[in-house]
Amino acid sequence: MSPFAHLIGSWLVASATTDNPRDRKLVTWAGVLPDLDGLGVVPDVVGSCLSGKECTFYYYQTYHHLLLHGWPGAIAVSILLSLFARQKWRVLLLCLLTFHLHLLCDFVGSRGPSFGDFWPICYSEPLFRHPIWFWKHQWRLDGWQNQTIFIGLFLTSIWVATTKGFSFVEVVSSRADKVVVKVLQKWRRQLFDRAGSRAP
Ligand SMILES: [Zn+2]
Repeated sequence: MSPFAHLIGSWLVASATTDNPRDRKLVTWAGVLPDLDGLGVVPDVVGSCLSGKECTFYYYQTYHHLLLHGWPGAIAVSILLSLFARQKWRVLLLCLLTFHLHLLCDFVGSRGPSFGDFWPICYSEPLFRHPIWFWKHQWRLDGWQNQTIFIGLFLTSIWVATTKGFSFVEVVSSRADKVVVKVLQKWRRQLFDRAGSRAP
């Protein structure tokens, strides 16, 4: 799944299981940070642009899913994030949960464009090579399954935002979040007012 889908999914878990913005953000980040190991794509593309050579995605292919997609990464990220939490133990466990939810989503739906282009989960990397898990029915990263899940997550997050008064935008900016939620709540009121006025 895309990092954005991971963010919304993790935020939904966080918004249902924590009671303050700080812990909510931390639990959400735990579900997104595994994809930090995909940032090798930046030097890949920049290097290719500067040299004029074809982009081979060397760093991306070498490190993505290997540095932060296993239990060592899960423990390191979760402990680190929980240090900043209000409810440390609770956040530690929830970070482990959203981190593993990320792994599960990648396990089922992150195949490349060609049929045999599986992305395995190397659960003990970068410390040990094994175990290596992959699912032979893994669907494409841009497949309809991921798109459907994303739409479901997105609509649910909008609903939660208008109901609870905070949205996933809070993860990057509390100020922007307030503006977004205000607009969403206005739209929701208008939508329901219109529907109500049409009712017999
Ligand atoms: Zn991932």
